[in-house]
Amino acid sequence: MFAQVIEAPAPVESHPLQARDLPQPAPGPGELLIRVRACGVCRTDLHVAEGDLPPHKQPVVPGHQIVGSVEAVGPAETSPSIAAGQAARRAPLQEVGIGDRVGVAWLHRTDSTCRFCRGGRENLCERPQFTGWDVDGGYAQYVVAPANFVYPLPQGFSDEQAAPLLCAGIIGYRSLRLAALERGGRLGLYGFGSAAHVIIQVAIARGLEVYVGTRDAPHRALAQELGARWTGDTYDTPPALLDAAIIFAPAGEIVPAALKAVDRGGRVVCAGIHMSPIPSFPYDDLYWERQILSVANNTREDGRAFLEEAVRVPVRSRVQTFPLADAGEALLALKHDQIQGGSAVLLAG
Ligand SMILES: [Zn+2]
Ligand SMILES: [Zn+2]
Repeated sequence: MFAQVIEAPAPVESHPLQARDLPQPAPGPGELLIRVRACGVCRTDLHVAEGDLPPHKQPVVPGHQIVGSVEAVGPAETSPSIAAGQAARRAPLQEVGIGDRVGVAWLHRTDSTCRFCRGGRENLCERPQFTGWDVDGGYAQYVVAPANFVYPLPQGFSDEQAAPLLCAGIIGYRSLRLAALERGGRLGLYGFGSAAHVIIQVAIARGLEVYVGTRDAPHRALAQELGARWTGDTYDTPPALLDAAIIFAPAGEIVPAALKAVDRGGRVVCAGIHMSPIPSFPYDDLYWERQILSVANNTREDGRAFLEEAVRVPVRSRVQTFPLADAGEALLALKHDQIQGGSAVLLAG
């Protein structure tokens, strides 16, 4: 099969992503073989390609916003943990069969047994595997994934529209959950790419006022078009104190600025997996019970709840498509804020 692999991380300008002919993977026990139709490009892929995240597998096929169809089902799983009474916990979200359209996201699998998994916080699993980092992902014609970690995808979204929902959407959704706002609350979004352009639609449907700070003029225009109450440059002061802010840009300098922009009791949620160092700031900026939180991965419950709400809103993702062969160009465009619309999506063709 055709695939794009990272042999060794390097700045994307030096083309760490290389086209390869790889053997088609075979589904193991409890896994599905999925023919990839579309795969969203996430900033995390850029962090994997450039080595901001240390390599977990070399070479690796990146990509964890995969829309595809089930081509084959692996043998039934006969793990001792199921015999030990884990069957209910490991049951699929919904039965999927050959030909069904499914989504594969960042959380490839968990151990299901650690204290976090047992406590309903599988996003914090001590022995997780992530798609496109620990195991090969969706910058390829085929991928395998555990049946109980894939999402049946709702109708009403084309393949390329559905792809950005699978990480940008789900992580944005978890960030919004952690922002813990009530109707009428004022939400700041810092950075306005794939995740923000999806989650602003959910936020506005929930009756929140959204304030967007981003350095990129086309992104400010898109935010206005999607209903932002105010847009400005990253370090401009919003016209009202915010009840919470979500930082999607990977720049630690934004954290002190966002803290200054939130009201007493407000939260600053850092949504990315990687961020440059956070400069020091006066304690007064944190006082009055302001909080800084990070978002780590997602639970399958986040994914399921988000996809249901995305149908109700309904979320309309703005995508720029690239052929899978041009995945390196897509990563370059993402790095340099040159994606037209909100999200880049690769089409396997
Ligand atoms: Zn676990
Ligand atoms: Zn992602």
